[in-house]
Amino acid sequence: MHRSSRQGTNLQSVKWQNRAAVLETLWRFQPLSRRDLARRTDLTPATLTNIVSEFLDAGIVQETGFGAQRTGRRPTMLAFVPDCYYLLGVNLSRTEISIGVFDMRLNAQHVLVRPISERIGGGPVDTLLHLIRQAVAESGLGWERLIAIGISAPGPLSGQEGMIYAPPHFPEWSYLPLGPLVQQAFNVPVWLENDANANALAEHWLGAGRAFNTFVYVENHSGLGSGIILNGHLFTGSTGVAAEVGHTSIDRHGPRCPCGNYGCVEIYSSGPAIVERVRQAHAAGRRTLLAEWLGDALDGLTFDQVIEASHQDDALSIEVLCEACRALGQGLVNAINLVDPEAIILGHKLHRFRADCLEALREVIQQQAIPQAAARLNIVVTQLPEPAAVTGAACRALSGLLQDPHLLLERTPVTG
Ligand SMILES: [Zn+2]
Repeated sequence: MHRSSRQGTNLQSVKWQNRAAVLETLWRFQPLSRRDLARRTDLTPATLTNIVSEFLDAGIVQETGFGAQRTGRRPTMLAFVPDCYYLLGVNLSRTEISIGVFDMRLNAQHVLVRPISERIGGGPVDTLLHLIRQAVAESGLGWERLIAIGISAPGPLSGQEGMIYAPPHFPEWSYLPLGPLVQQAFNVPVWLENDANANALAEHWLGAGRAFNTFVYVENHSGLGSGIILNGHLFTGSTGVAAEVGHTSIDRHGPRCPCGNYGCVEIYSSGPAIVERVRQAHAAGRRTLLAEWLGDALDGLTFDQVIEASHQDDALSIEVLCEACRALGQGLVNAINLVDPEAIILGHKLHRFRADCLEALREVIQQQAIPQAAARLNIVVTQLPEPAAVTGAACRALSGLLQDPHLLLERTPVTG
């Protein structure tokens, strides 16, 4: 069907949009009074009261006592019922499968972690289904209250098709219709999302992103990952590959990147690139504390060790990390000039970088981004515990549910 760029809105869809807006606002700022909810969502008190009654009747929302008020009657506060349902966050990484069982306020009830190479009862999908059943059984929560599953994995992937494509070093999971297979097995909605996008959602719902509607999230471990929250929602683009700050170029004469572009930020700033630069500088004669720890060949050197050495004032590690931060800052300038965000949120493992290296990143942004965008920009470091991977996956499920409130209000039985 042809869809024009401007579409009308019928009353039925306005009804669901209003419910979604109330649920999302309440989740982020709970507990809230009816008056605060009406003010934040721009709904009339009467409409808001009707919507809230529906949620109270469905057992999703509860009254939690009275809020503070200087004069007059103290307002009744509203919040989600934590144990009305629960959701699962599943993270697939190159080393582990992690499954977290969360209540509706995203408190983890149980987490199960297994090596990604483990196989139970067949191939990777059979193993995953088995481990999901095991995690739910171990949590002691019944199947009847499972409401949704979020899965995060390395990209590239298609959230719409629920399929991981061909990320490097992840062959067994490629081209499997993972989302549909898990959905069929348990008869609950399933969302698949790339790991950095899922972690950006964790910042949005639980972390530093709670204070902002539009921000760019960036993380740095086995590669650079990033996600954009635009006007309160994850921005995924038309095919799902949006927000790859790591694959924006900062030197068109630079080396070719596996993505096809030249001089990508990833080549200069990712964890593996940093390790490689330290190795090359040492091979060329630079002294480093790391050689005392690991021997002259720097065998098995890791990103964590470079970060640790920088905190012990190793000059080479500091220099390489600061230079990686300048390159990342330049990539973020590209993102800032495109998106004009309120904030940049620096995730794992940038949160463990020395302050002077992060200062180098800030300087590049302040000097090179469009001044109007840079002037009011907040650059903040994640406060979420590491690793937040299962939480990010659960946040993807939460976002899906709150944006589509039928799934909460008109739920079908679950098969375990
Ligand atoms: Zn690239």
